[in-house]
Amino acid sequence: MDRRMFLKVSGGLILLSACRGKFSLNDKLEISKFPIKIDSNRSLGHLVRSAIQLPVSETLKIETLIVGAGISGLSAACSLRSTDYLVCELDPTLGGTSGATKISGSLYSQGAHYDLAYPNNYGKDGLNLLEQLDIITFNGKKNLWEFQDKKHLISSDNEEKCYDNGKFRSSVLENNELKRNFIDLLKEYDNQFPLPSTLINNKLHHLDHITFFDYLNKYLPIDSHFIEAVDYQMLDDFGGTAQQISALAGIHYYKCRPYYNNTEIELFSPQQGNYYFIQKMMSQIPSDNIKRNHLVFGIKRIGKKWHADILDTRSMIRKEYITNSVIYAGQKHALKYIHPESHAQFSDVTYAPWVVVNIELNDKELKNSKWQNDFLSPDGTFLGFVDSKIQNKKNNRVLTAYYCFPNIHHYIIQDFESSAETLVYETISNMSLYYEEDISKHVKQAHIKLLGHAMPIPHPGYLTKDRTLFKDNLAFAGVDTGRLPLMFDALDSGIQAAKSISS
Ligand SMILES: Cc1cc2nc3c(=O)[nH]c(=O)nc-3n(C[C@H](O)[C@H](O)[C@H](O)COP(=O)(O)OP(=O)(O)OC[C@H]3O[C@@H](n4cnc5c(N)ncnc54)[C@H](O)[C@@H]3O)c2cc1C
Repeated sequence: MDRRMFLKVSGGLILLSACRGKFSLNDKLEISKFPIKIDSNRSLGHLVRSAIQLPVSETLKIETLIVGAGISGLSAACSLRSTDYLVCELDPTLGGTSGATKISGSLYSQGAHYDLAYPNNYGKDGLNLLEQLDIITFNGKKNLWEFQDKKHLISSDNEEKCYDNGKFRSSVLENNELKRNFIDLLKEYDNQFPLPSTLINNKLHHLDHITFFDYLNKYLPIDSHFIEAVDYQMLDDFGGTAQQISALAGIHYYKCRPYYNNTEIELFSPQQGNYYFIQKMMSQIPSDNIKRNHLVFGIKRIGKKWHADILDTRSMIRKEYITNSVIYAGQKHALKYIHPESHAQFSDVTYAPWVVVNIELNDKELKNSKWQNDFLSPDGTFLGFVDSKIQNKKNNRVLTAYYCFPNIHHYIIQDFESSAETLVYETISNMSLYYEEDISKHVKQAHIKLLGHAMPIPHPGYLTKDRTLFKDNLAFAGVDTGRLPLMFDALDSGIQAAKSISS
């Protein structure tokens, strides 16, 4: 039965009947009140209706408009030849799903939080941009592009620990014969799964037409325990289970880097997570070229120009930008309102909603804490948490928890705006189970980020579908253009969009 059935919150007292592992919460977790900050841009969508009624207050002309300041929008900005462009971002902060939040004066990740060193067969355009941003440098001996800022590397002994329904082990996939057979099975794909995913050879495209589950079931004597662990990993990176994603995506997860070839791959995870990449790109973009709190709510082609409707959500002023080209790096589900003609080619894209919960603790030692603390339990939505002390010893400890919900729950996650306490207390109780001690009395504050359309799920057919990503000087960027939800794919999609505009 779903563990949530037992959970009740009443005035700061949480009752949890489930008892797993050595530590029992013994039905009582007393939690004193602390501040909870919720970040959600749900209400902004509703502003569109009122924006349409407003008169246009100013009309501006620019060469290129970029919609969205996530990794892909900013990498497009860094790659444009002309500086006559403007990036409009609806949020007050930049980064999208690679964003960060300020807690006690320091930035902590509120989304994507790591990347791994890049093999030499990765896309040259992405590698060039990362080199130009002084993020990576080539190590000829290892034939790998490595990170320059070594202080953000996570050592392998601090990397991971996995709580599996009351027991601990060193990684999510249990070390047993089935895992060895699994690794052997995938050997034929060594060096064949580069990033960006657009570089995957056509001869592997048949793997996009079956589910990862069906592929595994065909070749291995899988059991429910193995699938639970694989599902956990697939949800963690792709927002869908092995039954939902394609074999192409699933195999890519295990083969895009030589994880199982005894090769040391640097794991890079600054405290601010992948917002680090956002900061690096921002340092190359003139600040006047970025407009925050600017919602693009319509684009239309008139003659040879694009006319974009924009709402400054702070002043509620409606503006019109007339441009030669547009790079659309926002989520594609919103195209049905913004540019309906383009929506059809993305109508197959389904998104997993995510919720990120940052829990700041007062000074507190935690035994055996790792960078990534995985958590397998009957509630498959909780995907463990990251401990910032492993990233940076000096600042306060923040434990950042991740929840991935089935894609039917886009609107339900907005309910967390009214039930934030339950979510935070449940998170703390899971963390207490993990540490085998009650950490609730050490909590200083919590931040919640609700991400409705967060991660495109690479279901069968998604990665190989033909899409027109450039037409009439309108280019599409972002991981939801038929790519994997990974930093390098986002980065490359922005570069390719900028190239198509510039050529
Ligand atoms: C919780 C979570 C954890 C992740 N962890 C990792 C990780 O550790 N490593 C990794 O490689 N990848 C990770 N990912 C994948 C991550 O999504 C990508 O790496 C990358 O950040 C996606 O960038 P993007 O530019 O494609 O999209 P987004 O980050 O979604 O950016 C789109 C931007 O456009 C803005 N926007 C949308 N519509 C409009 C509009 N109409 N007007 C103005 N602005 C608009 C949005 O506000 C947003 O800022 C994670 C994803 C999630 C959800």
